Amino acid sequence: MDHLPVFFDVRDKKVVITGGGTVAARKSDMALRAGARVVVFADELSAEFKDIEAHERFAHQPGFPTQEDVNNAVLVYGGEEDLELDGALFRMARAARTPCNVADTQQFCDFITPAILDRSPIVAAVSSSGASPILARSIKAQLETIVPPNYGDLAEWAKGFREEVAARLTDGADRRRFWEIVMDGPVAASFLAGAVTEAEAELRTTLDAEADGVSRGVRGEVYLVGAGPGDPDLLTFRALRLMQKAEVVLYDRLIGPQILNLVRRDAERIFVGKEQQNHVMPQEDISRMLVRLAKEGKRVLRLKGGDPFIFGRGGEEIEELAREGIPFQVVPGITAAAGCAAYAGIPLTHRDHAQTCIFVTAHMKKDGALDLNWDVLVRPHQTLAVYMGLSTLGALTTQLMQHGAAGDLPVAVVDNGTRPDQQVITGVLRDIAEKTMTAGLRGPSMVIIGTVVTLRENLAWFGANARRNASG
Ligand code: SAH
Repeated sequence: MDHLPVFFDVRDKKVVITGGGTVAARKSDMALRAGARVVVFADELSAEFKDIEAHERFAHQPGFPTQEDVNNAVLVYGGEEDLELDGALFRMARAARTPCNVADTQQFCDFITPAILDRSPIVAAVSSSGASPILARSIKAQLETIVPPNYGDLAEWAKGFREEVAARLTDGADRRRFWEIVMDGPVAASFLAGAVTEAEAELRTTLDAEADGVSRGVRGEVYLVGAGPGDPDLLTFRALRLMQKAEVVLYDRLIGPQILNLVRRDAERIFVGKEQQNHVMPQEDISRMLVRLAKEGKRVLRLKGGDPFIFGRGGEEIEELAREGIPFQVVPGITAAAGCAAYAGIPLTHRDHAQTCIFVTAHMKKDGALDLNWDVLVRPHQTLAVYMGLSTLGALTTQLMQHGAAGDLPVAVVDNGTRPDQQVITGVLRDIAEKTMTAGLRGPSMVIIGTVVTLRENLAWFGANARRNASG
């Protein structure tokens, strides 16, 4: 280690900063956030000081600090970006034995400033000891994605129970166990999901159980998570966090290996996929399995393609959990219509084309007929996003035309949307079924119907064949 990491208490103490530009503004903001009294020496302050200037602990003085100004400061930052002035400041700081930092100038630094993740009271500081600040910032950015924004609130909230817990659990090891259960289980999960009342009730139940010596250990819970249409980059932060936390994962056919790879390495993986005609596992069994695993105390991830509440039967899967009183949370995902439209360069709505977008599924009934509200579907100035429409595309397009839709209405079929092998076939109602058949698509495919499809000619951007496909 080239430097010793410490967290310095500057509350109500004086911090001296020189310069009126970006560097000085950033240091001022940081020091103010930590409770310091900040004095900035500069002839002029840039616009970046607009909010900072109004702060009651902030003072602005023209010119350069004197030795006296520096003597009673706890920290000094040089932000003049002028070697001579910064050097003078550094020498004054040395004389006063006050630690000094001059941005980007190692020879004038007693300490360096790390990249900071602020989830106060939780703060993470990352430094590369000056070797590569960009790398440190990139690590900080990664931390931003895995530490929920309200982690700080969670720490603050937990602090409110510290005394009570200490009074009831006098043994240090018991207390540690209790807090582990709280932070790893449904209490923290509820709090982070915004259900503070539930979190508090669960915390008290846990505390009662621990105090009575009838620990239930970590209680099981279920995360119903939408994984988006395929590109792992489209996962939400929360999805990724829960994927890293779960011990068992139930996934189906729509979840590709790239996404599954992001699940915790030692998690048990259970395939519950559904082929269209060949249901690998009936829906009831999935629900029951979720209940059973959660009751065993497991953290269970039910990972679904797209969004769990859009043609995903996610609602049905958690009804049973709700009945059994098992804690669960639902994480939305980017639904196939949104993902495919974006990656195919087709805005689903557009002022000149469509003011409505209908998400519809064209699943065939047992007798082979499509049971849809045709009058609504053939209205002008709208877009249809058809899920599960590939195998019934012929029947769908025929019936739309029979109900009055124009044979030259543009259609796009987006196959394997958002994935490296995405393929887009464009045509019109009259010929798209034929074209799609010729292309031999295997799905999953999203059918988009409406004049917005023509916008793709200019807006296609994804994939090596974006332009060629657009004209095909
Ligand atoms: N809950 C999912 C939809 C499940 S239904 C969601 O919100 O996206 C399954 C259908 O979604 C498929 O038949 C197909 O029509 C569509 N679909 C899912 N992923 C897709 C993808 N990557 N590309 C094209 N269509 C997709």
